[in-house]
Amino acid sequence: MSDDKKKQPDNIQPTTDNLTIGILGGGQLGQMMTMAAKKMGHRVVIYDVVPGGPAASVADEMIVAPFEDEKALKNFANKVDLITLEFENIPIATLEFLAALRPLHPAPNVVRICQDRIFEKEFLQSHGIPVAPFCVVRSAEELVGAKKILQADTILKTATLGYDGKGQVAIKAGASSEELSQAWDSLRTERAVLEKKVKFQAEGSIIVARSRRGEIAAFPPQENEHVRGILDVSRAPARFSKKVLDQAESLGKKIAESLNVVGLITVEFFVLPDETIMVNELAPRPHNSGHHTIESSATSQFEQAVRAVTGAPLGSTKLIQTAIMLNLLGDLWKTGEPDWKPFLDQPNIFLHLYGKKEAKPGRKMGHVTFVGEKFTEMESTEGMKNFLETQGPFCN
Ligand code: AMP
Repeated sequence: MSDDKKKQPDNIQPTTDNLTIGILGGGQLGQMMTMAAKKMGHRVVIYDVVPGGPAASVADEMIVAPFEDEKALKNFANKVDLITLEFENIPIATLEFLAALRPLHPAPNVVRICQDRIFEKEFLQSHGIPVAPFCVVRSAEELVGAKKILQADTILKTATLGYDGKGQVAIKAGASSEELSQAWDSLRTERAVLEKKVKFQAEGSIIVARSRRGEIAAFPPQENEHVRGILDVSRAPARFSKKVLDQAESLGKKIAESLNVVGLITVEFFVLPDETIMVNELAPRPHNSGHHTIESSATSQFEQAVRAVTGAPLGSTKLIQTAIMLNLLGDLWKTGEPDWKPFLDQPNIFLHLYGKKEAKPGRKMGHVTFVGEKFTEMESTEGMKNFLETQGPFCN
């Protein structure tokens, strides 16, 4: 599209056809969002700092340049009608630069809150949304001085750039000053949150879409299990009480509206023994725990993200089939490519491999989704049984 024909920021019609969407980030979330966008007739240009990520193989075009490269950013903006993102660790200056050139969803201020655990917790607290008791820590001395919260087991988390359990250290109740100093030094950060370790009965997440028109739709929550801080298994529908499901939906919608987000917001939460919920983390994008929606739901989370940012009507979030999603981490490649046969000849099993060249421990290489009627039936299918016997548990 030539520059003079390019639609200007406030001039995009809420249409589903023939837009060029720019996506910041070329990982597997970008790949799946690209596939959804292309299915809807859009073009996609990816911008990332490294070449050859999973999205590169499916996008129409990819720009590889640093996030600080204004010339490359301008070139990217000139090629697209609107911009969205697949991960939140992008410099705010980059997002502000792009937002001045093209509509950018979610807005820089939403990303600013979601990319920093301190801002995120302060935002949630200021809206009366329950979070684990925490305090902000900026030095070893401050950590040693946080006497009250340190009476319980805690987790020290870097304010920024932590993901999949990285940038976190567990601290036992009553740790010595020396142990605390070591914990602080191990994080190599200047800002962190010290959070009380929560005794939860389950973990869940809810994905809420809010469109350019202000339309809002929540997917039913899923139930998640983590191993070593990394998502291992998601089940939908979550086996939570109605009370928990209702709380998740109302908190999810409240957060989406308070943030004024356009796109998706994923809310990860703990379910406490008394059936109240506490928010752990926000992500302003599609989420690993929502991958099952590709097969299980009327609209996938990726299509919903595209609909939300383009201003198309949101799709139905109805869960059509019960689903279990298992993450495939690089650990499974320890002795070479795993045997995928059990997954390839079953109608209810969907294998997704992201095409990453190098398998590293903890690296998300793909996922597999089982759909069916009941969890117990799915767990006893040949594919899942074989997998559990020969490969599982997934995060070992
Ligand atoms: P996060 O990186 O904050 O999403 O944490 C990853 C996982 O670590 C969570 O899904 C939980 O399983 C666990 N975790 C994180 N924070 C806490 C906490 N305050 N209490 C108990 N478990 C936690």
